[in-house]
Amino acid sequence: MSFIEVDTLTKKYGDSIHALDRVSFTVEKGEWIAVMGPSGSGKSTLLNILGCLDSVTEGRVVVDGQELSGLSARDLARFRAEKIGFVFQQFHLVPYLTAVENVMLAQYFHSLADEAEAAEALRRVGLGDRLGHLPSQLSGGEQQRVCVARALINQPNLILADEPTGNLDEVNEAIVMGLMSELHREGHTIVIVTHDPEIGRMAERRIELHHGRLSEVSVFPTYEEELIDNLLKAVWHAQEHVGKEVVPIESLPEFLPNRATFLLMAQEELVDLEGETLAFTSRGEARGREVLRRHRLSERLFYDTFGLDKDLLDEHACKIEHTLSPEVTEKICIFLKHPLTCPHGSPIPRGACCPAR
Ligand code: ADP
Ligand code: MG
Repeated sequence: MSFIEVDTLTKKYGDSIHALDRVSFTVEKGEWIAVMGPSGSGKSTLLNILGCLDSVTEGRVVVDGQELSGLSARDLARFRAEKIGFVFQQFHLVPYLTAVENVMLAQYFHSLADEAEAAEALRRVGLGDRLGHLPSQLSGGEQQRVCVARALINQPNLILADEPTGNLDEVNEAIVMGLMSELHREGHTIVIVTHDPEIGRMAERRIELHHGRLSEVSVFPTYEEELIDNLLKAVWHAQEHVGKEVVPIESLPEFLPNRATFLLMAQEELVDLEGETLAFTSRGEARGREVLRRHRLSERLFYDTFGLDKDLLDEHACKIEHTLSPEVTEKICIFLKHPLTCPHGSPIPRGACCPAR
């Protein structure tokens, strides 16, 4: 049995609004799912039902072995408090309670309020020095981190997040998504609603809703792998430019538009992100080296052998660098007699076929 089972779920508001129309899918324990789709397509409705905040009209929803439609309002509240952590776009903090009190409030249903535990949860999201602050004394990003702490306080198996970065700037978005990927690594199951493809890409699987219907369950492996290749190349270029292995993020114009993918790359141990700097891990460096090698060898081939215009080399190399197999790359290198530089003068990383210098 899957951790979440949604079977022909329908949700109606009145007679005319079908917020969800016979939606079926499953989620395994520890998976990270993104729910995407246009505004009004039923994303929040779906999340609220999974989070026991709304009722089912028809169909079956099972979370962690518990069929939800069979529960009374009281049992739903208890199940939610024990099993589910919720993060909302509009933080929903109580304005006259401090950060630590807001977190303790979520604890209330579960066990005796434990201030030390709440403080620990806030330290975990980097707010150890803000325990006594009111929401109005915190920035949007800090308020959302209080919400993440609140969601974590009962050690829930399932974390539901509805557009958690919708009201945040890019820096705080990266912090909150960094926390999400940490939770994922620890084994929490995460379902996150987002319309941001960058954030959707961090999930292992994407579910798309259109007019309350599930239209697509997709992964984009090729696209994603190519993007990662390109970003590894960008890191390599930045290293060449700066002349150091650890490069400041500001030397990478690709960083901000692709911050979620960089977080994913950190998660996959291709890069080390430390504060405002970035470096390759040994895996990342090996993969970056191969991409660069394919790119610059392709440029050499197009230039030396086919006489392609120098200005067109980069564009065409970018197209084939993702598809060349190691065998073909080696053949090109041998055919070109192991060239040392690309036509623009940049060094071509050595391969196993190249003679020692
Ligand atoms: P999304 O989160 O994808 O933007 P929602 O799940 O909020 O979409 O809404 C799906 C549809 O259900 C919309 O047409 C919305 O107007 C309707 N809806 C949502 N909640 C209610 C409600 N409490 N009463 C009536 N209609 C609702
Ligand atoms: Mg919504």
